[in-house]
Amino acid sequence: MSTLYHSTRSNDATVTSTQAIIAGIAPDGGLYVSDALGETQLDLTRVCGQSWRATCNDVLNTLVGDLSAETIARCVDEAYASFTSDAVTPVSAIGNDWLLELYHGPTCAFKDVALQMLPRLMTASLAHEAAASGSAPQRIMILTATSGDTGKAALAGFADVEGIGCTVFFPAGGVSDVQRLQMVTQPGANVAVAGIHGNFDDAQTTVKRIFGDRALAERLAEQGMALSSANSINVGRLVPQVVYYFDAYAQLVRSGAISCGDEVDFCVPTGNFGDVLAGYYAKQLGLPVHQFVVASNTNDVLTEFLTTGRYNRVRPFEKTISPSMDILVSSNLERLLYYASGRDCELVAQLMRSLDETGEYQVPAELFAEISGLFRCGSANDDDTRSAIARAWQTDGRLIDPHTAVGKHVLDTREGTGHARVLLSTASPYKFSPAVLEALGESTEGLSGFDCMDRLEALTNTQAPAPLAALREAPVRFRDEIEREAMPAYVEDACKRLL
Ligand SMILES: *Cc1c(COP(=O)(O)O)cnc(C)c1O
Repeated sequence: MSTLYHSTRSNDATVTSTQAIIAGIAPDGGLYVSDALGETQLDLTRVCGQSWRATCNDVLNTLVGDLSAETIARCVDEAYASFTSDAVTPVSAIGNDWLLELYHGPTCAFKDVALQMLPRLMTASLAHEAAASGSAPQRIMILTATSGDTGKAALAGFADVEGIGCTVFFPAGGVSDVQRLQMVTQPGANVAVAGIHGNFDDAQTTVKRIFGDRALAERLAEQGMALSSANSINVGRLVPQVVYYFDAYAQLVRSGAISCGDEVDFCVPTGNFGDVLAGYYAKQLGLPVHQFVVASNTNDVLTEFLTTGRYNRVRPFEKTISPSMDILVSSNLERLLYYASGRDCELVAQLMRSLDETGEYQVPAELFAEISGLFRCGSANDDDTRSAIARAWQTDGRLIDPHTAVGKHVLDTREGTGHARVLLSTASPYKFSPAVLEALGESTEGLSGFDCMDRLEALTNTQAPAPLAALREAPVRFRDEIEREAMPAYVEDACKRLL
């Protein structure tokens, strides 16, 4: 059955779920949402008794109704074969709380869960649309602005996928050594990577502008080509992330930690509000969630928003030791505003216009009450983050990365709610070895990223994931560093190479 989507900013034009996945972002700059969300609920008893893959099939069949169940089943089988854990996203104990380990994919961050799936959904969607229109499949250039982890996960997912290219922009100097090496060593004939002079928001804003460039779109359309996004604004990115909220719950039920039907809390380290929004979708699909705790680093726009109802991006951009959350414009919040306002496109359009023109907006009191009832918040500065890493290691025997540690700090400073609390662990600590080593009290002076990796292994008697250790020998393929103004031309060049 077709699942219809429309823009958060207008419900004049609807598209199918496959069209939404192919397009990435709506033509008016809004994000695709479906009014069917919540109409069909997942059967919780069934979820509690089944595998990750089976739940993944249930979630995708509910939210991407235009692909056949057979096609979805094939995508699911292929996508998660590259994970090193049979459970895909295992849950383990950390003190009295639970850690949802999302980093067992090929690039060692949670983004793999979605980005191993998105290329498959996109290829299937392109074939579906081509069959419906009787023409050859469109060719797609994926355009991605990354704060560090999305870029590599997108490259790994899309490398050498037939008919699709992938161009990644990262803030030069704004990502960890290992993150940069992961990207600039990426093999594949259809990929391009460039550092830009600017921060993540600069990269993301320019990418959004390129998506809105009508003239470019027309030039590409003449060649049977279109741009799309692998950022969490794409429905196909969001949907696979819904799965691990359900599966984590099922694991807790099976281990006896909770009973089926109990409410749980999820604490989510957030930048773009994508990961936590997937949790909100899970709740709409019937997962018993008591509250979400949104954890931010010093770029705490979301903490301010969730305490005051006022979103204000006009403030200094702080570089932190959790760089994947160094974000001031949390794109996916727009989807929450849509659903929580009772699906008010006009209000969302007005708020987004205000954000664009003045850098801020204030939501109506009723909407704020709706949001703040479900979403709690807190933030951690770099010292808090380092203490949380040290505490997790010394007290709980768990080695966690700085992003996860932001969440741990926020959880540790909150009163318990009587509900089981699940902390989403978003990356392997070895992606950020220097920061983790310093948090454990070691000096990193004069050490390279790989020296730090070695030290961290020796100190904690743990092992760096193989894909990260292998970067030592990987040849660098991309050395481009460009100005923001040069990004559109860079994209058009990459498109030409794909033709
Ligand atoms: C991307 C990322 C986040 C933030 O996720 P959002 O979907 O942007 O909220 C947190 N931690 C790590 C390690 C990440 O890569």
